[in-house]
Amino acid sequence: MRRISARNQRIVLPGLVLAVICLMSVLIGGCAGPKRTPPVETEPLPDFAPVVGTPTLLGVGLLENEKSLEISVNGPALVLDGHGGNRLARLDGPGTVVCTRSGGQVTWRVGSQKGTTGTLVLQPVDPGHRVLQGKSAYRGGFLVIPTPGGSGLTLVNNLDLESYLRGVVPWEIGRHGRDKFTALEAQAVAARTYTISHLGTRKSRGFDVYASVQDQVYKGSADEDPLCNSAVESTAGLVLRFENEEIEAYYSACCGGVSSNIEEVWARGGRPYLISRPDSPGEGKEAYCATSRHFDWRESWTAGRLEEIMQKTLPEYVDYITQPGRSEWAGPVFSPRDGSSSASRPGRLRNLEILDRTTSGRVARLAVTTDAGVYHVRGDRVRWVLKPSSGNPFILRSALFEVELVRDGERLVEVATRGRGYGHGIGLCQTGALAMAERGKSVREILSHYYPGSTLDRVGR
Ligand SMILES: [Zn+2]
Repeated sequence: MRRISARNQRIVLPGLVLAVICLMSVLIGGCAGPKRTPPVETEPLPDFAPVVGTPTLLGVGLLENEKSLEISVNGPALVLDGHGGNRLARLDGPGTVVCTRSGGQVTWRVGSQKGTTGTLVLQPVDPGHRVLQGKSAYRGGFLVIPTPGGSGLTLVNNLDLESYLRGVVPWEIGRHGRDKFTALEAQAVAARTYTISHLGTRKSRGFDVYASVQDQVYKGSADEDPLCNSAVESTAGLVLRFENEEIEAYYSACCGGVSSNIEEVWARGGRPYLISRPDSPGEGKEAYCATSRHFDWRESWTAGRLEEIMQKTLPEYVDYITQPGRSEWAGPVFSPRDGSSSASRPGRLRNLEILDRTTSGRVARLAVTTDAGVYHVRGDRVRWVLKPSSGNPFILRSALFEVELVRDGERLVEVATRGRGYGHGIGLCQTGALAMAERGKSVREILSHYYPGSTLDRVGR
C-alpha cells in the first residue's frame, strides 16, 4: 500500500463535494474542510487535551456496485448534487432516497420528486441526526457515486476522522472494562494513525478506506461503546510519527509471543518501528498475550481435503505473488516437474516442508510438492494457501507454526499445523496491549513497546 504523508494528504472526495460538505458545515455551525496538517510538535503523554480545529474528513466505502440503493435519514436533511452543490431536494423530517444507476449517472427519487445527477449527497441538517442504510446508522452523510469501472452504485459514508474512530475501536479491540482503558487508548491512536497514513490509497474506488478487515472494521454509530468513545476522546488528534510522518500502524489480534519484521512477512520494505521483538515484560517472562485463546492452536486436514483446497489456493498464490512489486521479493515460485506440468493444475499433494523461518520464527518459505512440481510459498501468504477445512477462520491463524505429516508408507494421510497467535503479528498485539493495560501500563508504554522509536504527536489545530 502506498504511503501518503499527512503533510500531503488529500481527501478523495471531489473538490466540489467537499465544498458542499463545507457549506453544510457552515450552515450547521463551523466550517469543516480538508485538513492541511500544520507543523507538529512532540508532546509528551499523558498530557492529553482534545484537539480543537478543523476535522480530517474521510470517505468510508460501505457498498460497491449495488444495482440500487435505499438510503434514509432520521431527521431533516438536504439532497445535493455532489458535483455542483445544488440542492436537489429537502427532507423536512425522516425520509428515504432511492437511487439507481442510469448510464454514468445517479437517478434518484424522494417521494414524488425525482431526477438525475452525477453524484448525490444526503446530508442531515443537524449533525445529531444519522443517515441510515439497511440496519446500520452512520454519523456524517452519504455520498452516492457511479461505481468506477462497474455498472452499479457505490455508497460512501463521509464523516470526520474522530467520529469514524468511534465506529472502529470497539470492533477492532472489543469491549472491555475500565481496567483495560489504556489499551483502548492505544488502539484508538493506532487506528487514527493507520487511517491518516492510508488516506487516498483507495482513491480509484472513490473513497479512502474500506469498512472491513481490508482496512479497519467500521460499523457506524448504532453500537458504539461508551468506554471506547472515551478512549477516542481522550486521545483526540494524537498520532504516532517516525521522522515526521505518520507510521504504518499495523496491528493484529495476537502475536503468539513475538512480533514480526514487516519485510519478512509481506512484500514490503522494512520499517524501523515494525520489528521483531518478544511480547513480554522481559527475557524468559511469559508473553503478555499468553492468555489469548489463540495463543496455541492446531489445524488439521486429511491429505485429500488439503489437496482439494490447494487445487485453488496454490494457483491463487502463484497469480498473487507474480504481480509486479511482489515477484522480486518472493524469489522462485514454482519448479515444474516436467514440460507438461502447469502451476495452475497442482494435482496430488505429496509433501510439505518448511525451508526457512523469519527472525521471529514464522514460516518464511514453505515448499509444497505436488504432481505438478514444487511451489515455494513465501511469508504470510502461507496462511492463504493452508486454508482451514471448516472455512473458519477463513485463513490459517498465523504463520508461526510447525507442520506434522502422517503417512501410510509413501502415501500422505494427514497434515496438521500446530501454531501460535492470530494475525500477521506486525505492530501492536491487541491481546498483549490489553494485558499490559491490566498491569497498569500507560498508553505511552504500550505504544512504545509495540512501535519502538515512534513518537506521539498531535495533528490538526
Ligand atoms: Zn502478543
